[in-house]
Amino acid sequence: MSIDKSGTWWTGTEPGDLEPYLTYFASDANFTVDEFRLSRCPDCGSPLFQVEYLDARTSARHVCMACGRAQFVCDGGGPRWHGPARSFICPACSSQVANVGVGFTLNQAKDAVDWLYVGLRCARCGLLGCAADWSLGYSPSMHVLDWA
Ligand SMILES: [Zn+2]
Ligand SMILES: [Zn+2]
Repeated sequence: MSIDKSGTWWTGTEPGDLEPYLTYFASDANFTVDEFRLSRCPDCGSPLFQVEYLDARTSARHVCMACGRAQFVCDGGGPRWHGPARSFICPACSSQVANVGVGFTLNQAKDAVDWLYVGLRCARCGLLGCAADWSLGYSPSMHVLDWA
């Protein structure tokens, strides 16, 4: 695993690089990433997705490239999915296929999710980005780790 920070965009050589990337991203807001999950299709296990996220960056969903299964990221569905959305197109290479990784900031007791970050890694060129992040602020909420 390694992150190249030398270019216009940070890039990662493999999907797991999303964890240190999101850790760095969250540290800008003085948040820690306590847990990380790489999204894999629950039906076929593929880590490759087309991704759609709200312009407001408060929700995201993905469609499996291998089998077509569509899923919201964590609790991103329902009333949270509201307003104009856009599809991920890599600004560096125009690919529309990405790995998705979610970083979770837990509450002080470490028994609920306070905030989560949806990171994307371009499957072609490795570009790293954060498509959305939002607060949860309810409990119990640890189950959303299984919905990445
Ligand atoms: Zn699938
Ligand atoms: Zn790319």
